[in-house]
Order: sequence, then C-alpha cells, then structure tokens
Amino acid sequence: MTTEAVRKSMQGNKRSNTKPELLVRKRLREAGLTGYRLQWKVPGRPDVAWPGKKVCILVNGCFWHRCPKCNLPLPKSNVQYWSVKFDTNVERDKRNLQELEALGWKVHVIWECELKKKCIDDTFAALLPVLAEELGKEFRVD
Ligand SMILES: [Zn+2]
Repeated sequence: MTTEAVRKSMQGNKRSNTKPELLVRKRLREAGLTGYRLQWKVPGRPDVAWPGKKVCILVNGCFWHRCPKCNLPLPKSNVQYWSVKFDTNVERDKRNLQELEALGWKVHVIWECELKKKCIDDTFAALLPVLAEELGKEFRVD
C-alpha cells in the first residue's frame, strides 16, 4: 500500500465506489431497494443512506475497521503504531454509530467478508427483509 493510500485511510477519507460498496449497491438495485444516497453527510458518512427514512448501511473493510470475525493480525512492523491507529479507527466507528443512533438513524454494518461469494447470499437474505421493512418498501427476490 502506498503512503498516500495509508494517509487517506488514516484521515478517514473514505474512497467511494470500492468493490464491496459496488457489490452492496448491486444487490440493493436487484432487490428494488433503490432511492438511496451515497456518502451522506452524517457521522460516519454512511456509504448508502436513505435520509428520508433515516436508514443507512456502513460497508466496513475488515482490515481498517478491525472486523471482529476476521480478527486480522497486525502488520509485522511498527506494531505499536498500528495498534494505536487501529484503536483510533475502532473508537471512531463506535462513536459514529452512537451518534447516528442518537440522531434516530437505523444503522446496518456490513463487513467486507460478509460479501464474499460463499456469504453474500446469506448476508442479504438476512438484511433485505429488515431493510425493506424499515424503508416501507417491498423487495424482490429472484
Ligand atoms: Zn471480516
């Protein structure tokens, strides 16, 4: 990873249109759950948001956001540096989530690993009915 990429990640300047985000948006479109906005300007800048309904989805990369399921090892060098940085990321995520909920948002977190081929169907099978209900919409299954 380049220094520039690291710097951007550390600042929390999220890149948009990453592969996991595109996967999520494709599934939402297929299900007919459209009308969302991207990177809405509320805490955590949710990747996908329906502001009128205060429903949003945060798509988290397992490495930067320290996925509890993957529990990825720290980089081998500068362990102290990375552990502080990652703690900061996790703290920031937690704070954003609390702020969103305090503002009345319903927040869904999707981890990158939940979008892998063998998981993605289960992930959306669980998520779509809940989302549809919150959005007051019907969803399609094929
Ligand atoms: Zn993960």
